[in-house]
Amino acid sequence: MSDTHQTTTPQALRRVVIVGGGTAGWMTAAALSVVIDKERCSIELIESDAIGIVGVGEATIPAIHDFNRKVGLDEQELMRATCATFKLGIEFVNWSKHGDSYMHPFGRYGFDINGVAFHHYWVDQRQRGNSVPFGEYCIPYVAGKQARFAMPHTDPRSVLSTYSYAYHFDASLYAKYLRKISEQRGVVRTEGRIIDVSLRAADGFIEAVTLESGQRIEGDLFIDCSGFRALLIGDALGVDYESWKHWLPCDRAVALPSRNPDVLEPYTRATAHPAGWQWRIPLQHRTGNGHVYCSDYMSDDEATAIALEHLETEAIDDPRYLKFLAGKRRRMWHKNCVAIGLSGGFLEPLESTSIYLIQAAIMKLIERFPDREFCANDSADFNAQIERHFCQIRDFIILHYKATQREDSDFWNYCRTMAIPESLEYRMRVFRESGRVAYSKRELFIETNWIAVLLGQDIVPQQTDMRVTCTPPDRIATQMHQMHEVMKMAAASLPTHAETVARYCAASQAEA
Ligand SMILES: Cc1cc2nc3c(=O)[nH]c(=O)nc-3n(C[C@H](O)[C@H](O)[C@H](O)COP(=O)(O)OP(=O)(O)OC[C@H]3O[C@@H](n4cnc5c(N)ncnc54)[C@H](O)[C@@H]3O)c2cc1C
Repeated sequence: MSDTHQTTTPQALRRVVIVGGGTAGWMTAAALSVVIDKERCSIELIESDAIGIVGVGEATIPAIHDFNRKVGLDEQELMRATCATFKLGIEFVNWSKHGDSYMHPFGRYGFDINGVAFHHYWVDQRQRGNSVPFGEYCIPYVAGKQARFAMPHTDPRSVLSTYSYAYHFDASLYAKYLRKISEQRGVVRTEGRIIDVSLRAADGFIEAVTLESGQRIEGDLFIDCSGFRALLIGDALGVDYESWKHWLPCDRAVALPSRNPDVLEPYTRATAHPAGWQWRIPLQHRTGNGHVYCSDYMSDDEATAIALEHLETEAIDDPRYLKFLAGKRRRMWHKNCVAIGLSGGFLEPLESTSIYLIQAAIMKLIERFPDREFCANDSADFNAQIERHFCQIRDFIILHYKATQREDSDFWNYCRTMAIPESLEYRMRVFRESGRVAYSKRELFIETNWIAVLLGQDIVPQQTDMRVTCTPPDRIATQMHQMHEVMKMAAASLPTHAETVARYCAASQAEA
């Protein structure tokens, strides 16, 4: 993103207006501020302090490094400004059945043997009585369980180069941090509540928004980052919302911060409950917790009681309730309005993908940056690509609910027996029959991600790769034992997560 957009043509945009200053609004502002020449095209962001932000998106995935690089963010500064910690993956507890747990790590399991993916050998060895859990062959799992973390090695020969990482951060501090950077780069912020949106009579394009103060702000391109309110794309332009509640029935959350425990673990935990699940996100200054649940099966009071019962440490604030509906707008780019963030759609936070979807939409918008003629091909292409992202991530999340053996509640009985998209049905069938993963390389979640969750949810392939039989089982067992030992030793050599965070952030402070 080093080249600024040439805005010299007669039809070039002159004013970009971003409505909303949550994670979506300020990520968009920060990214556009790198590529737009502000002398020729202004970027203005409007947010209402009285309304505030949703403020719960606190877990990320490694793709965020790409955003940080493109926007020119300094990692240490970001971590210090947002009280961030490192994240090696997500631990899923009680999903397949009570007492089970597995990790979806940011790293690979084991090593290929003779060109065949490791999980085929693991499945084969398990049938022969090897009881070492799959996770024990994965550095993020082994290190995470010991609360250890260090930056991955850069030498590809080291087992400590086989993982990646993301962050947990304070959502409000993240928006503030991006605001500071955006304003330094010339983005103009206006505080106030929008009470009216004017459309051009000729074509229904958005012409201006009016604030409570009476101020009218005109623009050529409007980016709707107004959160669940969807002021522009929904209220003003009337683009419909497609509900996916039949596949992702959870529609409520109660968020509850708590004091930090003594040990700072480098992973998110998602614990399944009778009508949903509870997240636990460790930050430097507090732990974020929340219970995501389905209001068809559980009341707010029951959900709060369960959340409180499962806190590891005492709550430090009152419960905060949120309502949502899984799904997406039928079009995220309509006329001169692009919806980014919660205004465009929502997939529950089970795999921490919402911030990624914001990032993907911003990058796609920059690639297809319009002029005032708003070429229909650009918006059609944007909409098709974002739709594809949403559907692929949707399927991955549904898998966690569908592939369960739980029979202990009406909610789980519904999830276990519900119809699922054909695209997911196909992937599950292929894996079950052959141990292979049907995916395309352009997807966010690739083979290792699918294998982690498919096996974690206890979908065991009926057959493994036939090449597994080419190597004597004893030799495989020896190699796997050696792998396990290497993983254990490598993980034990790492500093604790708390030490790494303290050193990293202190170094940043010293340099600042
Ligand atoms: C329970 C839950 C947990 C989540 N956890 C995660 C997670 O772990 N990881 C992840 O990636 N994502 C997560 N998300 C999603 C994440 O929170 C959002 O994607 C992210 O915060 C972006 O929100 P936003 O900026 O679209 O909306 P908001 O933060 O709601 O911002 C909306 C903005 O619009 C402004 N606004 C609204 N109306 C007006 C008006 N009339 N006038 C002026 N301004 C207005 C508001 O003031 C605000 O600034 C979670 C979401 C929920 C609901």
